Amino acid sequence: MSRAASLPITVREIAKSYGNVRALDRVDLDVRSGEFLTLLGPSGSGKTTLLMVMAGFVRPDCGSLRFGDDEVIRLAPHKRDVGMVFQNYALFPHMDVAANIAFPLRLRGVPKAEAARRVEQALAMVQLAGYGARRVDQLSGGQRQRVALARAIVFEPRILLMDEPLSALDKQLREHMQIELRRLHEQLGMTTIYVTHDQREALTMSDRVAVIERGRIAQLDAPRRLYERPSSRFVAEFIGESSFLPVARVDGGFAYDGRRLALPDGPAPEGKCLLMLRPERLRVLGAGPPAGMNLLGGTVENVVYQGDTYLLQVRLKDGNAVGARGVSTGTAMAALPPAGADVILGLAPEDTILLPDEGAPP
Ligand code: ADP
Ligand code: MG
Repeated sequence: MSRAASLPITVREIAKSYGNVRALDRVDLDVRSGEFLTLLGPSGSGKTTLLMVMAGFVRPDCGSLRFGDDEVIRLAPHKRDVGMVFQNYALFPHMDVAANIAFPLRLRGVPKAEAARRVEQALAMVQLAGYGARRVDQLSGGQRQRVALARAIVFEPRILLMDEPLSALDKQLREHMQIELRRLHEQLGMTTIYVTHDQREALTMSDRVAVIERGRIAQLDAPRRLYERPSSRFVAEFIGESSFLPVARVDGGFAYDGRRLALPDGPAPEGKCLLMLRPERLRVLGAGPPAGMNLLGGTVENVVYQGDTYLLQVRLKDGNAVGARGVSTGTAMAALPPAGADVILGLAPEDTILLPDEGAPP
């Protein structure tokens, strides 16, 4: 199987309502050719609906969808040249593995010998060479999902859509398959849209992630940017752990607990602001804190051992609670202040991120 020609996808003003539920609220999205883009959002946010609109199984109320230069919104699913993998495999239980994978080729009238050759290639691609004669019910969950994947790529579609394809698998297999899917994407190069509600999976696999909130795209960015520069509290809370502190506006800047904050370059949000704190970005400082850091003073409430990391739960002077996380080496653990002790936490300016306080009155 060769590297496929891939296509960019252009979504414009796509809306879809079910009764008074607005599943998609005028979505705009530009997917680059050959990109691995993930739709990430809570359950019910509209991820599946958007994917089904792209596949052609859901007709939107309005909007435009282009694959390359072609408007496809009125095109039937089988004419869209799209491979699709579902959460529940959706394999045919009465057919063997080879017949399942050959199905889309049969639909397209590919001659038998050619189909058999391509099925073998697809099986090798998903590391199931020699499994063609097995019955689907003789396979494990991970193997079934590989068969579903082989079926989705066997006709060399230029676009691959996957809806939570790994969510039925246990954690270890899921993490293994994440790496496999990435590898396959790098080999085949087709434009891929991947749906998940698992933020770690999204960050691990994607070139870019679109965070979906109630039928709209809240933010579209590369994983690192999304994690380090979320544009809203919703995105910050959905991706990773965080706590938020109200900050005061002082002339030309911001302050917390009476101390002026050193901030990264770039504009600060308008209106009331919150300081976002990620536990692993807070450093527990000893005597003689390093210069240039923002400092937060408080009292240790609890030291929680979590295996690979520890979590220091701290009550700040103004009553807000924050967590500081670090790697649980013996030296780090031994240096931690005990519950009840005073502590100073340090935050580098580049990790001092302000977000608009959407809940606050203007
Ligand atoms: P997600 O995949 O992010 O969990 P969905 O796209 O499945 O979200 O659903 C978005 C919203 O649309 C939800 O409120 C859901 O209940 C509603 N919805 C989806 N499909 C249908 C349908 N066929 N009929 C009625 N409501 C639907
Ligand atoms: Mg869904």
